[in-house]
Amino acid sequence: MNTLDTSIEYIKGVGPVKAGILKSELQIYTFADLMSYYPFRYVDKRVINKISEIDNATQEIQLKGYITSLQLLGEGKSMRLEAGFSDETGHISLVWFKGIKWIKDKLKPNTLYIVYGKPSNFLGNYNISHPELETIDEYNEAVKLRFHPVYRTSEKMKASGLNSKNMSKIIDNLFRKIYNEIDENLSEALLLKYNLMPRKNAYYKIHFPVSEQDISESQRRLKFEELFFLQLSVVMSKLKKSSSTKGFVFSKVGELFNTFYSNNISFELTNAQKRVVKEIRNDFRTGKQMNRLLQGDVGSGKTLVALMSMIIAVENGYQACMMAPTEILANQHFKTITKMMSGLPVKIELLTGTTKKKEKNRILEALKSGEVNLIIGTHILIEDYVQFANLGFVVIDEQHRFGVAQRAKMWKKNTIPPHILVMTATPIPRTLAMTVYGDLDYSVIDELPPGRRPIKTIYLSHNDRLKLVFFIKRQIAEGRQIYMVFPLINESPKLELKDLMDGYDRISREFPLPDYQISIVHGQQKPDVQEFEMNRFVKHETQILIATTVIEVGVDVPNATVMVIENAERFGLSQLHQLRGRVGRGGNQSYCILMSGDKVSNEGKKRIATMVSSNDGFAIAEADLKLRGPGDMNGIRQSGVLDLKIADIAQDEQILKAARDEAFALIDADPKLAAPENRCIKTYLDAKVYAQNIWSMIS
Ligand code: ADP
Ligand code: MG
Repeated sequence: MNTLDTSIEYIKGVGPVKAGILKSELQIYTFADLMSYYPFRYVDKRVINKISEIDNATQEIQLKGYITSLQLLGEGKSMRLEAGFSDETGHISLVWFKGIKWIKDKLKPNTLYIVYGKPSNFLGNYNISHPELETIDEYNEAVKLRFHPVYRTSEKMKASGLNSKNMSKIIDNLFRKIYNEIDENLSEALLLKYNLMPRKNAYYKIHFPVSEQDISESQRRLKFEELFFLQLSVVMSKLKKSSSTKGFVFSKVGELFNTFYSNNISFELTNAQKRVVKEIRNDFRTGKQMNRLLQGDVGSGKTLVALMSMIIAVENGYQACMMAPTEILANQHFKTITKMMSGLPVKIELLTGTTKKKEKNRILEALKSGEVNLIIGTHILIEDYVQFANLGFVVIDEQHRFGVAQRAKMWKKNTIPPHILVMTATPIPRTLAMTVYGDLDYSVIDELPPGRRPIKTIYLSHNDRLKLVFFIKRQIAEGRQIYMVFPLINESPKLELKDLMDGYDRISREFPLPDYQISIVHGQQKPDVQEFEMNRFVKHETQILIATTVIEVGVDVPNATVMVIENAERFGLSQLHQLRGRVGRGGNQSYCILMSGDKVSNEGKKRIATMVSSNDGFAIAEADLKLRGPGDMNGIRQSGVLDLKIADIAQDEQILKAARDEAFALIDADPKLAAPENRCIKTYLDAKVYAQNIWSMIS
């Protein structure tokens, strides 16, 4: 066994009790775990703050002063020790709830102390609970190192003496034991190329830096290492998958495809669409199962690419299916695709949760007999009773709305798994996509069809309502149509409905019959009502569609030119971008109007400003990632990027790119990591078994 796998209880200063707390509070079990419990920031010991500087925004600070009083307050469980503490600018309290007796005996009045902690405001007075204390002698010793690491600690830890200062001591003890056991895990070539410090130095310096450069360089080295091994596991699992799964060969691209291409589409494909169709055609020929992610901004024309790929499957004698996350979208795909395929000998059906029983049974039979070539539906298609004669190709639209498990279920619909194309318009930054969907090949449509005019995005407050009404009336007079969307209020569908209905009442007054007709669509309606209302809008019988976010994805009404989003501050960025993508689909100038209430948080303001300043889904995704961090982004949770200890996907994109390139290049050159210079990489990787643990979860 490697020394680094030893239990932390054997470190001087830990023991079984503290080890138990570190395990339960921080999931730190072994030397290696503790070694990579990094400081989350550093205090420059030379900086001493004044009590008078403290305000409600103050984080951890360092103060110098005297204990002026000491008293025990309360009784029994609520007993606490309170000390007065003063410097020349003011006075605060220091409070202890645990370890009272020990502290009380230790504290000496009229002695200079350095106090460190985070002040909080209690009824107008500031206090620091469980502060760290140093005598001036101890301080003078500490300041020699200049930087003092700060570790995240919980109340429970602090109460047991595991404050940041003691964590640092323990980690110091740890390094005395293990410094020489920290083996290098990157090749000499990588260290040289990226000018990275040796591993043991990096680990030591990140805990005990003596300069700013120590901090930044040790962090850079450790981030690289972390991302490199993450990417390495991505490459390897991808390799494993692609070498093992056999797939159908669709070798024929013939009359059906060509007829469709030359007769049934009225426009030229964009270069990006052509490239992606080619990538898919290539996959179809390899004899291996395709698992491909297609990312493309809203309106970039993913549906057509999917359809052309399905035609290839059908032409080769297989069935194809397309799964959409909502009833509305499945309906719409069915209509567009049926229309686009008119005149071609392809039998297309639609299956959703509202398909009538008799109809459903007929379709199920026809699927099983092979009479149906192409089926479009909602997640009902996953159900076991939906059986195919010979399913060869599955398209999953708006993949982020489905789980990984659902994708996996489609694999089992034939003896050899069908090819799979998942599509998403929820942009996530490219590098991140590669990590999150590491087991998928990746295609992107990075170009919009020509002639689209950029959507103008405008921010209006409540008070501009009249202006808005006037503007909309003019658009309607020009023959255009309008969406008005209300936010989803998570806690209560009822409240959400109320907001929507209030909005509906108001809008009905602003746009009265008979001049104006209004549709309304929301999640509480029966699907057939939804469809009826939606259809009235699609057929232009109504000019305004009031909706909740059920229309967020996919809906395509090219004549609609205005998207009004009420309480825009309540939506996330990617949702706003999706909604905006409902307009700008025809030749007319389109507008997205973001309305807000009176009170908008700073973050809400930033989101709105981002929307106003950019139309580019990828740029917005980057902004979103920076605003919210990866934790809230779709699909991230299973990806392993949240388990990163030091690298930050949003901030460290450059390191991520380099690490990724190197990981791919390495596996290309030395797939088994057999070369002597790569031995250290292999040893580390084998010990980690990283790949299996994380990646088996998402595939
Ligand atoms: P998304 O990628 O958001 O799913 P769609 O597939 O719904 O986008 O396409 C948006 C609109 O653009 C549709 O009306 C479609 O017919 C049209 N479209 C697709 N490709 C082209 C193209 N190459 N040229 C012009 N219009 C196109
Ligand atoms: Mg779409």
